Amino acid sequence: MLHTYSLAELSQGLEKGDFTSVALTQHYLERIKQHQEMLNCYISVCEESALAQAAAADTTRARGAATPLTGIPIAQKDLLCTAGVKTSCGSKMLDNFIAPYDAAVIERCNAAGMVMLGKTNMDEFAMGSSNENSFHGPVMNPWDIERVPGGSSGGSAAAVAARLTPCATGTDTGGSIRQPAALTGITGLKPTYGRISRYGLIAYASSLDQAGPMTQTAEDAALLLNILAGHDPRDSTCMSNPVPDYQATLNQSIKGLTIGIPEEYFTAELNSQIGDTLQVAIKELQKLGANIKPIRLPNTHLGVPVYYVIAPAEASSNLSRYDGVRYGYRCENPKDLLDLYKRTRAEGFGEEVKRRILIGTYVLSAGYYDAYYIKAQKIRRLIRNDFIEAFKEVDVILGPTSPTTAFKLGEKTTDPISMYLSDIYTINVNLAGLPGLSLPAGFVDGLPVGMQLIGKDFDEATLLKVAHQYQQVSHWHREIPNMFKGAK
Ligand code: GLN
Repeated sequence: MLHTYSLAELSQGLEKGDFTSVALTQHYLERIKQHQEMLNCYISVCEESALAQAAAADTTRARGAATPLTGIPIAQKDLLCTAGVKTSCGSKMLDNFIAPYDAAVIERCNAAGMVMLGKTNMDEFAMGSSNENSFHGPVMNPWDIERVPGGSSGGSAAAVAARLTPCATGTDTGGSIRQPAALTGITGLKPTYGRISRYGLIAYASSLDQAGPMTQTAEDAALLLNILAGHDPRDSTCMSNPVPDYQATLNQSIKGLTIGIPEEYFTAELNSQIGDTLQVAIKELQKLGANIKPIRLPNTHLGVPVYYVIAPAEASSNLSRYDGVRYGYRCENPKDLLDLYKRTRAEGFGEEVKRRILIGTYVLSAGYYDAYYIKAQKIRRLIRNDFIEAFKEVDVILGPTSPTTAFKLGEKTTDPISMYLSDIYTINVNLAGLPGLSLPAGFVDGLPVGMQLIGKDFDEATLLKVAHQYQQVSHWHREIPNMFKGAK
């Protein structure tokens, strides 16, 4: 039952010699073979290189040079560049792209001796909330395979939830780590903007993108953040703040900590059973000694419209590089240069990506720039100010991660606005640059419910501590969907 172990437990098992990294890796590769067809959560599985990394990790351990995560498997979101391995970003445009170098996140996992099982499925260029925008087809939710796992890191979320990897990475521009974590019953952390290097992370909206851990438990997220966080001169927005040992403070009491509950997060838009589930969780936190305080975040409702100006604006600029000239997809028999550009982009990008490039180009064009883009940037500041005001009175903010539980495949694909509203509680955290964590808080009709914790700049430690303390008195994070429990 190796797949039921958390990273912390796997780390101890490897250290005690209960099993080897090769055996552990084989166990996961076996599970992937068994379940991948049903879930479609991987784009690439790297069997050979994973076994080689595992053997090397066992040798490192035998030499006494292991770190806590040496020999532990991980699945990487397919928008992180991996040297020698396809990095498609869920797009036809990059389906032939073998990255020539490793992203900083990959380098750090490799340096810690982790084993890469494969690359996970995702919405094309990380645009989506359901994983239905992938060139490689949708991912199914392990709790109900007729439902979506959330997006855009849907493959990573489903793989962790079905225990087809002990942990994964995701990236989060408006909710793509936290929302799929919520919909699949796992723990996901979007760190503060600048905490983890974006070097080699294929850009969607550069002022919002941030990578982070997707794991079973908060303790596991802390272990992963320990290796991922830190300065990198190759990303000029990556900060040099000291990196604390995130595991060291997990067992501290949360007595006396003040948790703010925003009025704007508990309105009619929130499924009432999710609201009730969160009230129970809030009571548990009170029993652990936390003080609960109602707060206001008055500009909450402006987040989604502001995001859908700023993110497409940045995307339209970032995605201009895919022109069929340098790398990636190129159309057949172009007549001339203009034809090459036009057909390459028309054939290489999916519908949602094209919609956003159009919106982004529009809001940045002369005459509209001031009305849309500049206005959106001003409101972005107001949204951040709301949080700064609130954090004068509270240590952590708590709310739902998603307004609904996992929805049916196809349910929202024809209505982009209702899809965009999946992120009403997560998007503002990116606009403000703050850290946010989603953890399992219960079930509604057999589907997982996520609870979101939002922290002050660079205060991931407090989020992880609150989540860990809650996970000491709850069992939601330990639940595995029936079909994936496994006999051995
Ligand atoms: N769902 C949001 C979007 O479609 C957020 C995506 C993300 O965080 N990458 O843009």
